[in-house]
Amino acid sequence: MDLTQSNDDVAFRDMVRTFIVAHLPEDIARRGLKGYHASREDIQVWTRILNAKGWAVPNWPQAYGGPGFTPLQRYIFQRELRLAGCPVEDQAAMALVGPVIYTFATEAQKARYLPAIRNADEFWCQGFSEPNSGSDLASLKTTAVRDGDDFVVNGQKIWTSEAQRADMMFALVRTDSKVKPQAGISFLLIDMKSPGLTVRPIYSINEGYSVNEVFFQDVRVPVENIVGELNKGWGYAKFLLVNERTMSAEVPHTLHEIQELKALVKAGVRAGVSLSHDPLFMAKVARLEIDAMALETSVLRVLHMAEDDPEINAVGSVLKLRGSELRQRVTELMTEALGDYGMAVYPDVEGHDNMAVVAPVPPAPEHAAGVLSRYMFRRATTIYGGSSEILRTIIAKTVLGL
Ligand SMILES: Cc1cc2nc3c(=O)[nH]c(=O)nc-3n(C[C@H](O)[C@H](O)[C@H](O)COP(=O)(O)OP(=O)(O)OC[C@H]3O[C@@H](n4cnc5c(N)ncnc54)[C@H](O)[C@@H]3O)c2cc1C
Repeated sequence: MDLTQSNDDVAFRDMVRTFIVAHLPEDIARRGLKGYHASREDIQVWTRILNAKGWAVPNWPQAYGGPGFTPLQRYIFQRELRLAGCPVEDQAAMALVGPVIYTFATEAQKARYLPAIRNADEFWCQGFSEPNSGSDLASLKTTAVRDGDDFVVNGQKIWTSEAQRADMMFALVRTDSKVKPQAGISFLLIDMKSPGLTVRPIYSINEGYSVNEVFFQDVRVPVENIVGELNKGWGYAKFLLVNERTMSAEVPHTLHEIQELKALVKAGVRAGVSLSHDPLFMAKVARLEIDAMALETSVLRVLHMAEDDPEINAVGSVLKLRGSELRQRVTELMTEALGDYGMAVYPDVEGHDNMAVVAPVPPAPEHAAGVLSRYMFRRATTIYGGSSEILRTIIAKTVLGL
């Protein structure tokens, strides 16, 4: 699909492409092109290269270090990064808490946190979900009780992505239990090195490790770490969740993986016949690519909507729902294309952070490694950032008026 609409857009795309080729270290690109979870080190190296160019936070306003790209340029930029295998930035920091800080925080908080995010000096994690509060997030029970100049935090978060490498957590905590649930929540920034805070790993279905349980036992957090007003955290969280859903369409990731799928198809042989000559399989590949192109067009339309447009929450839900399904479908087809090799090279030793089990790898095509593991982990895309059932309810109510 040709996204470019003018000579200026073509020139912009070429400039970004040339910059990436010149600056992205080869070993980082190789890991990125294989779809690995990027390590803290790889993210740091790449983010600092982008920051030196003034491109680390393409979606932020210029007043806070953004480069002043147009919405279409922002999309072209992200697309080029993904297609080239650049490590995915610290999204919890740049896409989630960063905008909350520059929109709702004090000047002192902005000065303290935003430069460190732009340069990947500090990594963040999102402490929203709890064992019995996921879809029903407003029921969360982790408490923060004022004691002098501190809040004292007690409770537990779960499914906290990348907590093991994070320096800071942005958390929703209960600061009033006597009012209706949404009215008693505050938005707190917590240092992950605080005494009384413990991170415990959860190993995923693919035997990889990126999510955690986080426990708080009398964790003291300075009062100055609250964002905005006491008990107004639910509003800031809603603002953040809309951003999360809009970015969760993840079309550039899917487009990149469709390229990988096509490489697998080229190498694939079934019963002596090249997979690329199997009309049923090729129809599925074509269908997926058409759906990805259609979603990309929808994303571009949304990029032109104003951020406070009342429709944006509903539209963000549609993009997240559709995008997460496509992310699953592409790995389903990759697994199908691999056939028997998929199982044989299930764990990719180099790729997934802290794989719990490393089995001996039998001879197999180089490109097969890690595909099945990715397929397994992708089950999560229709759960995190709002499960598909919840999103369908939002769409039914707000778009269809049911
Ligand atoms: C890989 C991964 C990473 C994550 N990272 C983070 C993170 O960094 N930070 C964080 O805070 N959270 C994170 N999460 C948590 C995620 O946001 C929750 O898992 C999600 O909101 C669902 O909540 P739950 O797991 O409690 O499931 P539940 O809410 O218990 O839902 C269980 C099932 O019931 C369905 N269901 C629930 N309520 C309804 C309803 N009203 N109508 C119809 N169906 C319903 C759901 O769709 C789901 O199928 C992550 C999750 C995963 C899997």
